[in-house]
Amino acid sequence: MEKNINAGFDTLCIRGGHAAESNRAHLTPVYASSTYTFESAEQSIAVFKGEEPGYIYGRWGNPTITEAEEKIALLEAYKLKVSNGAPLQLKAILHSSGMAAVTTMLLGNLKAGQKIITHHSLYGGTHELIEKILPGLGIEAIIVDFHDVNRVEDALKADGNIALMYLETPANPTLQCIDLEALSTLGKSYGLTVCADNTFATPYLQQPFKYEVDYVMHSTTKFLNGHGTAIGGVLIGRDIEKMKGPITKMHRLLGGNSNAFDAFLLTNGMRTLGIRMDRHCSNAQAVAEFLEKHDAVARVNYVGLPAHPDHATAMRQMKNGGALMSFELKGGFESGVSFIDKMKLCTNAVSLGTCDTLVSHPASTTHMGVSREQRVAFGISDGLIRMSVGMENVEDIIADLDQAMT
Ligand SMILES: *Cc1c(COP(=O)(O)O)cnc(C)c1O
Repeated sequence: MEKNINAGFDTLCIRGGHAAESNRAHLTPVYASSTYTFESAEQSIAVFKGEEPGYIYGRWGNPTITEAEEKIALLEAYKLKVSNGAPLQLKAILHSSGMAAVTTMLLGNLKAGQKIITHHSLYGGTHELIEKILPGLGIEAIIVDFHDVNRVEDALKADGNIALMYLETPANPTLQCIDLEALSTLGKSYGLTVCADNTFATPYLQQPFKYEVDYVMHSTTKFLNGHGTAIGGVLIGRDIEKMKGPITKMHRLLGGNSNAFDAFLLTNGMRTLGIRMDRHCSNAQAVAEFLEKHDAVARVNYVGLPAHPDHATAMRQMKNGGALMSFELKGGFESGVSFIDKMKLCTNAVSLGTCDTLVSHPASTTHMGVSREQRVAFGISDGLIRMSVGMENVEDIIADLDQAMT
């Protein structure tokens, strides 16, 4: 199917980005080839000049990678239009990881002396990159509470060097959501480049390009792949010329390229994105409602529950509540550890977005190195459990959680 932009979301998940294959293979094969040949000197000149399409070298792309990239671009642009009514066109570049995609975006848009404005609850790796690596390159970050749009505007007024706004919603660990429309509109009115991390929501639940952002990034490791089989990332941009020019250059020179096998796994996983997300969301809603009523649970953070402080924001910009939640066990650190040990069905692992339910206890794992004071300030109390609700039969998930809490 060539770019049929009138097709439904699930049709695009299944067929979008697929190009006819020279040996008539049904699926695009894993192109395990580091370089590509030319029929003549004349042809190599034309391909190098970009006058004739063609692959040159594996770090610059290959047909298995192209299919994944085109599928993602179609999904993020699904039903969106530009101001003259034409369908929105996007370009995606697949990377070796979500971190590689963020790095290309940041270094492709910022130079020394410029600043990033962002919020507290970013993914840990993104936060560390911004806090520990970029200042050495002369790029500082200003961190503001993005729930308060007036304070964001005050910060923008006070510092003319802010050039980029970085958004992530929903975000760990309390599933905070920020208002994409208000923040992106504000950022664009101050001439900023705006980028949103859409990993938790996926384009099925949320499309940041609707709110005029310049870039969306994903860790494809999570829901887009959906089966936990490969680390990957993607950067999607609205300015096609910039994506094809300086951003492609940055991507190629930093060397964070994907590979054919991971791209194949990703394409295969994305075929079921829509139906997987429906099941993730309905399971998560049922699990959240069960936990909310449970005696051993002090608090449930799930955006699909009306009690979540950002429920209204989430429901305005997301189709559904997603698969991620966290909840606080009443017994503190000890009950967190005992809960993890008692689980029989759910998997004790970090990461998210796989078919199986993943559960972790941040205080004893990912955040063990963070001081208790700082951890609690981030909303990670001693008894907090983080969960990526999977697609098992929901009564099995609930039964496992119930027995692990008693
Ligand atoms: C996992 C994750 C990343 C980083 O992606 P990797 O594929 O691990 O490099 C970035 N943002 C969010 C929200 C994530 O969950």
